[in-house]
Amino acid sequence: MIRSPDRCRQNINMTGRPYAYCRNINSRKKIPISKEAHMNGTLYLVATPIGNLGDISARALETLRSVDLIAAEDTRNTVRLLNHFEIRKPLTSYHEYNKYDKAEVLIGHLRRGENIACVSDAGTPAISDPGEVLAARCIEEGIRVTSIPGACALITALTMSGMPARRFCFEGFLPSDKKEHKRILSQLVREERTIILYEAPHRLKTTLEELRDTLGGSRRITLCRELTKRYEEAIPLTLDSALSYYEENEPRGEYVLILAGADPAALAEQDHRSWDTVPLEEHMEIYLSKGMTRKEAMKKVAADRGLSRRDIYQALLQEENG
Ligand code: SAM
Repeated sequence: MIRSPDRCRQNINMTGRPYAYCRNINSRKKIPISKEAHMNGTLYLVATPIGNLGDISARALETLRSVDLIAAEDTRNTVRLLNHFEIRKPLTSYHEYNKYDKAEVLIGHLRRGENIACVSDAGTPAISDPGEVLAARCIEEGIRVTSIPGACALITALTMSGMPARRFCFEGFLPSDKKEHKRILSQLVREERTIILYEAPHRLKTTLEELRDTLGGSRRITLCRELTKRYEEAIPLTLDSALSYYEENEPRGEYVLILAGADPAALAEQDHRSWDTVPLEEHMEIYLSKGMTRKEAMKKVAADRGLSRRDIYQALLQEENG
Protein backbone atom coordinates (compact mmCIF):
# COMPACT_ATOMS: atom_id res chain seq x y z
CA MET A 1 0.00 0.00 0.00
CA ILE A 2 1.35 3.43 -0.88
CA ARG A 3 1.08 6.07 1.82
CA SER A 4 1.11 9.66 0.78
CA PRO A 5 3.61 11.89 2.59
CA ASP A 6 0.77 13.91 4.10
CA ARG A 7 -0.58 10.84 5.78
CA CYS A 8 2.83 10.26 7.27
CA ARG A 9 2.28 13.24 9.50
CA GLN A 10 1.98 12.57 13.22
CA ASN A 11 -0.99 11.34 15.21
CA ILE A 12 -1.63 11.22 18.94
CA ASN A 13 -2.14 7.79 20.51
CA MET A 14 -4.08 6.76 23.61
CA THR A 15 -1.24 7.75 25.92
CA GLY A 16 -1.15 11.21 24.40
CA ARG A 17 2.34 10.55 22.93
CA PRO A 18 2.83 11.33 19.27
CA TYR A 19 3.54 8.44 16.93
CA ALA A 20 4.24 8.13 13.24
CA TYR A 21 3.07 5.48 10.83
CA CYS A 22 5.75 5.91 8.25
CA ARG A 23 9.05 5.44 10.06
CA ASN A 24 8.64 2.01 8.61
CA ILE A 25 6.68 2.89 5.53
CA ASN A 26 5.66 -0.69 4.87
CA SER A 27 4.28 -1.43 8.31
CA ARG A 28 1.50 0.05 10.39
CA LYS A 29 3.61 -0.29 13.52
CA LYS A 30 3.27 2.85 15.63
CA ILE A 31 6.69 4.20 16.51
CA PRO A 32 6.92 7.05 19.05
CA ILE A 33 8.65 10.15 17.74
CA SER A 34 10.14 13.03 19.70
CA LYS A 35 8.14 16.23 20.24
CA GLU A 36 10.58 18.10 18.04
CA ALA A 37 10.34 15.61 15.18
CA HIS A 38 6.56 15.81 15.63
CA MET A 39 6.61 19.45 14.49
CA ASN A 40 9.11 19.05 11.67
CA GLY A 41 8.41 18.16 8.07
CA THR A 42 10.11 15.25 6.33
CA LEU A 43 12.85 15.26 3.73
CA TYR A 44 12.06 12.84 0.88
CA LEU A 45 15.02 11.82 -1.27
CA VAL A 46 13.19 10.98 -4.48
CA ALA A 47 14.91 8.91 -7.16
CA THR A 48 14.15 10.03 -10.71
CA PRO A 49 14.96 8.30 -14.04
CA ILE A 50 18.53 8.24 -15.39
CA GLY A 51 17.23 8.43 -18.96
CA ASN A 52 14.00 6.54 -19.48
CA LEU A 53 11.01 8.40 -18.01
CA GLY A 54 9.18 5.09 -17.65
CA ASP A 55 11.46 4.29 -14.74
CA ILE A 56 9.82 6.75 -12.34
CA SER A 57 7.92 4.95 -9.60
CA ALA A 58 4.32 5.49 -8.52
CA ARG A 59 5.57 6.46 -5.05
CA ALA A 60 8.00 8.99 -6.51
CA LEU A 61 5.17 10.68 -8.44
CA GLU A 62 2.85 10.59 -5.45
CA THR A 63 5.55 12.12 -3.25
CA LEU A 64 6.36 14.88 -5.77
CA ARG A 65 2.64 15.68 -5.97
CA SER A 66 2.14 15.98 -2.25
CA VAL A 67 5.23 17.71 -0.84
CA ASP A 68 5.27 21.46 -0.17
CA LEU A 69 8.52 22.16 -2.00
CA ILE A 70 10.88 20.40 -4.43
CA ALA A 71 14.61 21.08 -4.11
CA ALA A 72 16.16 20.21 -7.48
CA GLU A 73 19.78 19.96 -8.60
CA ASP A 74 18.89 21.33 -12.03
CA THR A 75 15.53 23.09 -12.01
CA ARG A 76 15.30 23.14 -15.85
CA ASN A 77 15.64 19.37 -15.96
CA THR A 78 13.16 18.88 -13.15
CA VAL A 79 10.65 21.26 -14.75
CA ARG A 80 10.70 19.01 -17.85
CA LEU A 81 10.10 15.95 -15.67
CA LEU A 82 7.29 17.63 -13.71
CA ASN A 83 5.65 18.96 -16.87
CA HIS A 84 5.71 15.49 -18.38
CA PHE A 85 3.79 14.15 -15.37
CA GLU A 86 1.66 17.29 -15.03
CA ILE A 87 2.91 18.09 -11.56
CA ARG A 88 2.82 21.73 -10.44
CA LYS A 89 4.86 22.40 -7.32
CA PRO A 90 7.13 25.18 -6.08
CA LEU A 91 10.72 24.45 -7.08
CA THR A 92 13.97 25.70 -5.63
CA SER A 93 17.52 24.98 -6.72
CA TYR A 94 19.81 22.87 -4.58
CA HIS A 95 23.11 22.11 -6.27
CA GLU A 96 26.84 21.59 -5.81
CA TYR A 97 27.59 25.32 -5.46
CA ASN A 98 24.95 26.19 -2.84
CA LYS A 99 24.72 22.84 -1.07
CA TYR A 100 25.89 24.06 2.37
CA ASP A 101 24.13 27.44 2.60
CA LYS A 102 20.95 26.28 0.93
CA ALA A 103 20.75 23.22 3.20
CA GLU A 104 20.24 25.63 6.14
CA VAL A 105 17.44 27.43 4.27
CA LEU A 106 15.74 24.11 3.51
CA ILE A 107 16.11 23.04 7.14
CA GLY A 108 14.24 26.25 8.06
CA HIS A 109 11.33 25.12 5.86
CA LEU A 110 11.38 21.61 7.36
CA ARG A 111 11.38 23.10 10.88
CA ARG A 112 8.18 24.96 9.99
CA GLY A 113 6.57 21.58 9.23
CA GLU A 114 6.90 21.67 5.44
CA ASN A 115 7.67 18.45 3.57
CA ILE A 116 10.46 18.70 0.99
CA ALA A 117 11.39 16.39 -1.90
CA CYS A 118 15.03 16.49 -2.94
CA VAL A 119 15.66 15.38 -6.54
CA SER A 120 18.95 15.21 -8.38
CA ASP A 121 19.69 15.73 -12.01
CA ALA A 122 19.12 12.02 -12.52
CA GLY A 123 18.98 8.92 -10.36
CA THR A 124 19.13 8.62 -6.62
CA PRO A 125 19.81 11.80 -4.64
CA ALA A 126 22.90 11.62 -2.39
CA ILE A 127 24.74 9.24 -4.75
CA SER A 128 27.57 11.43 -6.07
CA ASP A 129 25.38 14.49 -5.75
CA PRO A 130 24.56 17.20 -3.19
CA GLY A 131 21.56 15.39 -1.67
CA GLU A 132 24.19 13.74 0.56
CA VAL A 133 24.88 17.03 2.38
CA LEU A 134 21.21 17.86 2.90
CA ALA A 135 20.40 14.37 4.21
CA ALA A 136 23.33 14.48 6.64
CA ARG A 137 22.34 17.95 7.94
CA CYS A 138 18.71 16.89 8.43
CA ILE A 139 19.79 13.84 10.41
CA GLU A 140 22.04 16.04 12.58
CA GLU A 141 19.03 18.29 13.21
CA GLY A 142 16.74 15.38 14.11
CA ILE A 143 14.63 15.88 10.98
CA ARG A 144 13.17 12.73 9.47
CA VAL A 145 14.77 11.65 6.18
CA THR A 146 13.33 8.97 3.98
CA SER A 147 14.24 7.70 0.54
CA ILE A 148 11.91 6.85 -2.32
CA PRO A 149 14.00 4.28 -4.20
CA GLY A 150 14.37 4.08 -7.96
CA ALA A 151 16.96 4.36 -10.72
CA CYS A 152 20.61 4.56 -9.80
CA ALA A 153 23.32 4.41 -12.48
CA LEU A 154 25.79 2.37 -10.46
CA ILE A 155 23.32 -0.43 -9.66
CA THR A 156 21.94 -0.49 -13.21
CA ALA A 157 25.48 -0.80 -14.61
CA LEU A 158 26.67 -3.37 -12.08
CA THR A 159 23.73 -5.69 -12.63
CA MET A 160 24.12 -5.71 -16.41
CA SER A 161 27.94 -5.97 -16.41
CA GLY A 162 28.13 -9.64 -15.47
CA MET A 163 30.87 -8.79 -12.94
CA PRO A 164 30.63 -10.24 -9.41
CA ALA A 165 27.91 -8.25 -7.65
CA ARG A 166 28.04 -9.93 -4.24
CA ARG A 167 30.81 -7.62 -3.02
CA PHE A 168 31.57 -4.30 -4.68
CA CYS A 169 32.92 -0.85 -3.87
CA PHE A 170 31.64 2.37 -5.34
CA GLU A 171 34.16 5.18 -5.73
CA GLY A 172 31.94 7.64 -7.61
CA PHE A 173 34.07 10.17 -9.55
CA LEU A 174 37.78 9.99 -8.77
CA PRO A 175 38.66 13.10 -6.73
CA SER A 176 39.85 16.18 -8.59
CA ASP A 177 42.43 16.95 -5.90
CA LYS A 178 45.68 15.47 -7.31
CA LYS A 179 47.00 14.02 -4.04
CA GLU A 180 43.67 12.47 -3.09
CA HIS A 181 43.24 11.19 -6.67
CA LYS A 182 46.60 9.38 -6.43
CA ARG A 183 45.81 8.01 -2.97
CA ILE A 184 42.48 6.51 -4.07
CA LEU A 185 44.02 5.01 -7.22
CA SER A 186 46.78 3.38 -5.19
CA GLN A 187 44.18 1.95 -2.77
CA LEU A 188 42.43 0.30 -5.71
CA VAL A 189 45.50 -1.85 -6.41
CA ARG A 190 44.62 -4.16 -3.51
CA GLU A 191 40.83 -3.90 -3.92
CA GLU A 192 39.44 -7.40 -4.41
CA ARG A 193 35.80 -6.36 -4.75
CA THR A 194 34.27 -5.24 -8.06
CA ILE A 195 35.07 -1.52 -8.47
CA ILE A 196 32.52 0.99 -9.75
CA LEU A 197 33.43 4.46 -11.00
CA TYR A 198 31.49 7.31 -12.58
CA GLU A 199 33.13 9.26 -15.37
CA ALA A 200 32.36 12.12 -17.73
CA PRO A 201 33.09 11.53 -21.45
CA HIS A 202 35.77 14.25 -21.69
CA ARG A 203 37.79 12.62 -18.90
CA LEU A 204 37.26 9.00 -19.94
CA LYS A 205 40.52 8.42 -21.86
CA THR A 206 42.70 9.96 -19.12
CA THR A 207 40.97 7.88 -16.47
CA LEU A 208 41.38 4.69 -18.51
CA GLU A 209 45.10 5.45 -18.92
CA GLU A 210 45.50 6.01 -15.19
CA LEU A 211 43.61 2.80 -14.41
CA ARG A 212 45.75 0.84 -16.90
CA ASP A 213 48.95 2.25 -15.34
CA THR A 214 47.72 1.39 -11.83
CA LEU A 215 45.88 -1.90 -12.26
CA GLY A 216 47.54 -3.33 -15.40
CA GLY A 217 46.32 -3.54 -18.98
CA SER A 218 44.81 -7.02 -18.62
CA ARG A 219 42.31 -5.96 -15.94
CA ARG A 220 38.73 -6.57 -17.12
CA ILE A 221 36.43 -3.56 -17.44
CA THR A 222 32.85 -3.14 -18.63
CA LEU A 223 32.09 0.33 -19.94
CA CYS A 224 28.39 1.05 -19.43
CA ARG A 225 27.07 4.11 -21.23
CA GLU A 226 23.77 5.85 -21.88
CA LEU A 227 21.96 3.48 -19.52
CA THR A 228 18.20 3.13 -20.03
CA LYS A 229 18.50 5.33 -23.16
CA ARG A 230 18.23 4.52 -26.85
CA TYR A 231 21.98 3.96 -27.36
CA GLU A 232 22.57 2.05 -24.13
CA GLU A 233 25.71 -0.09 -24.26
CA ALA A 234 27.70 -2.32 -21.91
CA ILE A 235 31.07 -3.07 -23.55
CA PRO A 236 33.18 -5.77 -21.90
CA LEU A 237 36.89 -5.14 -22.56
CA THR A 238 40.28 -5.08 -20.84
CA LEU A 239 41.92 -1.77 -19.94
CA ASP A 240 44.36 -2.21 -22.87
CA SER A 241 41.61 -2.95 -25.38
CA ALA A 242 39.41 -0.14 -23.96
CA LEU A 243 42.22 2.32 -24.67
CA SER A 244 42.62 1.02 -28.23
CA TYR A 245 38.85 1.17 -28.69
CA TYR A 246 38.72 4.84 -27.66
CA GLU A 247 41.58 5.73 -30.01
CA GLU A 248 39.13 4.90 -32.78
CA ASN A 249 35.85 5.96 -31.12
CA GLU A 250 35.19 9.28 -29.42
CA PRO A 251 33.63 8.78 -25.93
CA ARG A 252 30.03 10.02 -25.91
CA GLY A 253 27.36 10.17 -23.22
CA GLU A 254 27.51 9.28 -19.56
CA TYR A 255 29.65 6.43 -18.31
CA VAL A 256 29.78 3.97 -15.46
CA LEU A 257 32.97 1.91 -15.32
CA ILE A 258 32.79 -1.55 -13.79
CA LEU A 259 36.21 -3.05 -13.08
CA ALA A 260 36.99 -6.58 -11.94
CA GLY A 261 38.55 -6.66 -8.48
CA ALA A 262 42.14 -7.77 -7.96
CA ASP A 263 42.79 -11.53 -8.03
CA PRO A 264 43.62 -12.55 -4.41
CA ALA A 265 46.03 -15.29 -5.60
CA ALA A 266 47.93 -12.78 -7.79
CA LEU A 267 48.09 -10.31 -4.88
CA ALA A 268 49.49 -13.02 -2.57
CA GLU A 269 52.07 -14.02 -5.21
CA GLN A 270 53.11 -10.37 -5.59
CA ASP A 271 53.51 -10.10 -1.79
CA HIS A 272 55.67 -13.25 -1.71
CA ARG A 273 57.85 -12.05 -4.60
CA SER A 274 58.44 -8.70 -2.89
CA TRP A 275 60.71 -10.58 -0.40
CA ASP A 276 62.91 -12.02 -3.17
CA THR A 277 65.39 -9.14 -2.92
CA VAL A 278 65.78 -9.49 0.88
CA PRO A 279 68.52 -11.95 1.95
CA LEU A 280 67.11 -14.83 4.02
CA GLU A 281 69.19 -14.11 7.16
CA GLU A 282 68.12 -10.46 7.05
CA HIS A 283 64.50 -11.57 6.77
CA MET A 284 64.98 -13.93 9.76
CA GLU A 285 66.54 -11.08 11.73
CA ILE A 286 63.33 -9.01 11.44
CA TYR A 287 61.54 -11.59 13.59
CA LEU A 288 64.46 -12.65 15.77
CA SER A 289 64.93 -9.00 16.80
CA LYS A 290 61.30 -9.05 18.02
CA GLY A 291 62.23 -11.83 20.47
CA MET A 292 60.96 -14.81 18.44
CA THR A 293 62.71 -18.18 18.59
CA ARG A 294 64.48 -19.39 15.43
CA LYS A 295 61.66 -21.86 14.82
CA GLU A 296 58.98 -19.15 15.11
CA ALA A 297 60.95 -16.79 12.85
CA MET A 298 61.33 -19.55 10.23
CA LYS A 299 57.55 -20.08 10.26
CA LYS A 300 56.94 -16.35 9.67
CA VAL A 301 59.57 -16.11 6.93
CA ALA A 302 58.07 -19.15 5.21
CA ALA A 303 54.59 -17.56 5.30
CA ASP A 304 55.92 -14.23 3.97
CA ARG A 305 57.61 -15.95 1.02
CA GLY A 306 54.86 -18.47 0.30
CA LEU A 307 57.27 -21.34 0.98
CA SER A 308 57.36 -24.23 3.46
CA ARG A 309 59.34 -24.07 6.71
CA ARG A 310 61.40 -26.97 5.38
CA ASP A 311 62.34 -24.91 2.29
CA ILE A 312 63.51 -22.08 4.53
CA TYR A 313 65.44 -24.42 6.80
CA GLN A 314 67.29 -25.94 3.85
CA ALA A 315 67.99 -22.60 2.22
CA LEU A 316 69.45 -21.29 5.49
CA LEU A 317 71.60 -24.42 5.83
CA GLN A 318 72.89 -23.92 2.29
CA GLU A 319 73.69 -20.27 3.02
CA GLU A 320 75.56 -21.29 6.19
CA ASN A 321 77.55 -24.00 4.36
CA GLY A 322 78.40 -22.19 1.31
N1 SAM B 1 22.69 10.31 -8.50
C1 SAM B 1 23.04 9.64 -9.73
C2 SAM B 1 22.79 8.14 -9.60
O1 SAM B 1 21.94 7.74 -8.83
O2 SAM B 1 23.43 7.37 -10.28
C3 SAM B 1 24.45 9.97 -10.15
C4 SAM B 1 24.73 11.43 -10.29
S1 SAM B 1 26.31 11.79 -10.88
C5 SAM B 1 26.34 13.53 -10.67
C6 SAM B 1 26.20 11.65 -12.61
C7 SAM B 1 27.00 10.46 -13.15
O3 SAM B 1 26.23 9.27 -13.03
C8 SAM B 1 27.33 10.56 -14.62
O4 SAM B 1 28.49 11.33 -14.86
C9 SAM B 1 27.52 9.11 -15.01
O5 SAM B 1 28.81 8.66 -14.60
C10 SAM B 1 26.46 8.44 -14.14
N2 SAM B 1 25.20 8.33 -14.91
C11 SAM B 1 24.05 8.97 -14.68
N3 SAM B 1 23.12 8.60 -15.59
C12 SAM B 1 23.71 7.71 -16.42
C13 SAM B 1 23.29 6.96 -17.54
N4 SAM B 1 22.05 7.07 -18.04
N5 SAM B 1 24.17 6.13 -18.14
C14 SAM B 1 25.42 6.00 -17.66
N6 SAM B 1 25.88 6.68 -16.60
C15 SAM B 1 25.04 7.52 -15.97
